[in-house]
Amino acid sequence: MSFLDQYEAIVRLSAFAGIFLLMAVLEIAFPRKKRVVPKGMRWFTNISLVVVNTLALRLVMPILAVGMADYAAGRGWGLLAWVELPVWAEIIIAFVLLDMMIYAQHVAFHKVPILWRFHKVHHADRDLDVTSGARFHPVEAVLSMAYKLLCVVLVGPAAFAVFLFEVILNASSMFHHANIRLPQNVDRLVRWGIVTPDMHRVHHSVRVAETNSNYSFFLTLWDRLFGTYVAQPRDGHRDMVLGLNEYQTEKPANLGWAMVVPFLPEERPTAKEKGDSS
Ligand SMILES: [Zn+2]
Repeated sequence: MSFLDQYEAIVRLSAFAGIFLLMAVLEIAFPRKKRVVPKGMRWFTNISLVVVNTLALRLVMPILAVGMADYAAGRGWGLLAWVELPVWAEIIIAFVLLDMMIYAQHVAFHKVPILWRFHKVHHADRDLDVTSGARFHPVEAVLSMAYKLLCVVLVGPAAFAVFLFEVILNASSMFHHANIRLPQNVDRLVRWGIVTPDMHRVHHSVRVAETNSNYSFFLTLWDRLFGTYVAQPRDGHRDMVLGLNEYQTEKPANLGWAMVVPFLPEERPTAKEKGDSS
């Protein structure tokens, strides 16, 4: 039995629970921004989506990313199957390529109207915290996994590289959505490499120009390379408004709303909100 067969589930669950708890405690000790919505309702909705998405993936997808890497390796599929590299080099290349592909996916979810319908469930959250990192509509979760399977087939990484990538990406999502205050000099240093909470908060601003920036999920390289990097929110972290202009109500905290909103007619921001949003 391989390491992955034996320990995959337990490592994933422990990493998720460990980082979640750590972020939740740090949010209480060093909060960055005052909440505008009661925490209980939001947490119920966001955590329910985690459960629904886990079930949806198991029901809908015949195979998940790590399994696909094994399957692809058995057939010699993907870029990395054609070259002979040491394992560590293969892991680094796979990681960087997959991270770039996830960046591209995130841009697509903003630019393609039908995809945005689902991704806006994530953006409608009016506070940001560790639970926002897992707040995705089930359709987005399934489409993301289907896309990840395609990426795995194209890149051809070792199953262990995909496992590592998924665990780190998950941890990164909880970290950069967390409502925590890092010392300014630490933030500045860390964001040369990876996405920090202050950097990602800009992406959740109601200002459209800021929503359409800072798409990176782990390495900040992609935003810098593709010109989508915005260092700080125009209104400052304390005063900036989070979420979407058209949903500054109690609705986004409601689980039923989050499930059905992609299928409802789109609500447009009012003229005044539009004026505020650039
Ligand atoms: Zn986004």
